Amino acid sequence: MSDELPPERLNKFGKPLPTSYCPDCGYEMDAATLVSGGPKQARPVPGDFTCCLNCGTILQFGPDMQPVLSSADSAGNNEKLRYALLTLQAEIRKFRAKHYPKGLRNEPGTNP
Ligand SMILES: [Zn+2]
Repeated sequence: MSDELPPERLNKFGKPLPTSYCPDCGYEMDAATLVSGGPKQARPVPGDFTCCLNCGTILQFGPDMQPVLSSADSAGNNEKLRYALLTLQAEIRKFRAKHYPKGLRNEPGTNP
């Protein structure tokens, strides 16, 4: 089907991820992918962690799949997850600083 959404636009239950905005910088988000793994694994559920690709803020999907502010501390004793979140955040911020040196912030609907 030509109008079928790609896996990164779906949650674990096959429903489209809602268009949402980073609660920190306003970056528009409507997809989620894993740093590694196959497309079927890229489908998030409420409570899963994510990172804003614009500002690197650590987020979690809320019950309605809207992102809410979070932090690596929310990973609790899961050191592997904590390390992955902090590494991803650092890599995003390093990339953004290199390729978008004028700043990381933007207004909703004005994705760079
Ligand atoms: Zn952001």
